[in-house]
Amino acid sequence: AKKSGRNRFAWFDESMERELKARNDLEQGLRVAIPNGQIVPYFEQQIDLATSRLTGFEVLARWEHPVRGLIGPDRFIPIAEDTGMIAELSLSIMRQAFAAARDWDPGLTLSVNISPSQLRDAWLAQKIIKTLTETGFPASRLEIEITESALFDNLALAQSIAGSLKNQGVRLALDDFGTGYSSLAHLRALPFDRIKIDKSFVTSINEAPDSAAIVTAIIRLGESLNLPVTAEGVEDGAIAARLAAMGCAKAQGWHYGKPLSPIGVRTLLAERHLI
Ligand code: C2E
Ligand code: CA
Ligand code: CA
Ligand code: CA
Repeated sequence: AKKSGRNRFAWFDESMERELKARNDLEQGLRVAIPNGQIVPYFEQQIDLATSRLTGFEVLARWEHPVRGLIGPDRFIPIAEDTGMIAELSLSIMRQAFAAARDWDPGLTLSVNISPSQLRDAWLAQKIIKTLTETGFPASRLEIEITESALFDNLALAQSIAGSLKNQGVRLALDDFGTGYSSLAHLRALPFDRIKIDKSFVTSINEAPDSAAIVTAIIRLGESLNLPVTAEGVEDGAIAARLAAMGCAKAQGWHYGKPLSPIGVRTLLAERHLI
């Protein structure tokens, strides 16, 4: 038993070492990927459920790796957060997304994700507003998506950042609502304009009665608080129909298409005469 125990530890050491090396490689790569423009915005359609019209896009970061191809944000955002690169990454994504969206139909909005740690930067609002000014994208077309309990580790600062952004006309959405990181207490902490229901509830809405009950409750809560609700993770037409019947305001997900590159968006908008 002792021997196999030792072997098991040896195996753990090796797999941990491999994982550390992979992470280290990504970290080194990320340092140059940001200035080299390899971290690019993709765009996920957001749809008004009452009219089925496109209202705008959520901006989602992608790493166009020269060797490994397209890498998703779940692989590199946590590394960027841990190494302090997230601020630079985030502003680079915003700059590119604002520059691309400037020429689109002025009715179309952008929703941008920020990491909780960015709410500890006293200059965050100023940096975002400067990026808007430099790219000529109007603040009124921007929504910032915020998650997680880190809101509370410096609530006064988070509130001051939120206040500065709102003063310029930027809107705020509470992301991943219903998950452990995003709860009722958050709703009162900052002046949110919208609630986003996490996809874990939405994808299973037609199979799991629990999920349907939770989604209904969140939509009712939004109505009482006067906050429109967006559902993410809408994977088929049956889910979209159910949400529309429940009075959910907006939807996004694979039913409407996978996130698009800037060129993909241009093609879509050209077809619809929105560019
Ligand atoms: P999120 O904000 O919750 O974004 C929604 C995720 O769900 C996206 O994954 C999207 O591609 C995926 N998704 C969209 N439609 C569907 C669907 O119908 N079914 C399912 N199962 N999934 C769907 P993605 O692009 O991998 O992003 C993962 C997370 O990375 C995002 O979660 C967000 O928290 C974070 N992220 C992405 N871009 C940025 C960024 O620029 N800055 C920061 N701080 N975080 C980002
Ligand atoms: Ca989001
Ligand atoms: Ca989510
Ligand atoms: Ca998330």
